[in-house]
Amino acid sequence: MDKLSNLPVVPTRKEEAQGFFQRLLSKGLGWARKYSLFCYPYATACCAMEYMSISGARHDLSRFGAEIPRFSPRQADLLLVIGTINLKQAPFLKMVYEQMCEPKWVMAFGVCASSGGFYNNYAVLQGIDRILPVDVYVPGCPPRPEQVLDGIMLLQNKIANQPHTIGPGAYKRSLIP
Ligand code: SF4
Repeated sequence: MDKLSNLPVVPTRKEEAQGFFQRLLSKGLGWARKYSLFCYPYATACCAMEYMSISGARHDLSRFGAEIPRFSPRQADLLLVIGTINLKQAPFLKMVYEQMCEPKWVMAFGVCASSGGFYNNYAVLQGIDRILPVDVYVPGCPPRPEQVLDGIMLLQNKIANQPHTIGPGAYKRSLIP
């Protein structure tokens, strides 16, 4: 019995064909999702000015298919955490994230959201990755618009290359307690 369990698993032609169609579906969904990001801007501080600047005509976030902000978490799939998050706000930020549907992504916009920045004190959350799974960090205080666009492109690459499925229970991401 032990010898049998050590034998390599050889996929049948039917399984290989299913794998091919799953990969094709995943690539198609990844392509569609990376160019249709709906941002929820959770803006608390001065970095919000940079968010306004990337949404304006000069830097034009719409070139990346991410220009429409949604102020309901149920209609958004990209949470932009923009600015300082203090400990009193952290439960509300987490609640917003939990209300977003899967698949969803998180960007830490600026050094305050990424690591607390220079607010190294008892009142400020030292990085949103203590409560949320962050997909991309954008450094800077505040970040240049080009840095944010670079972060969006990194995220788009990540979305295009991750596996996508459809149907109930397709996505399960555990929250950091
Ligand atoms: S990173 Fe700098 S600009 Fe952005 S919220 Fe913090 S202090 Fe303000």
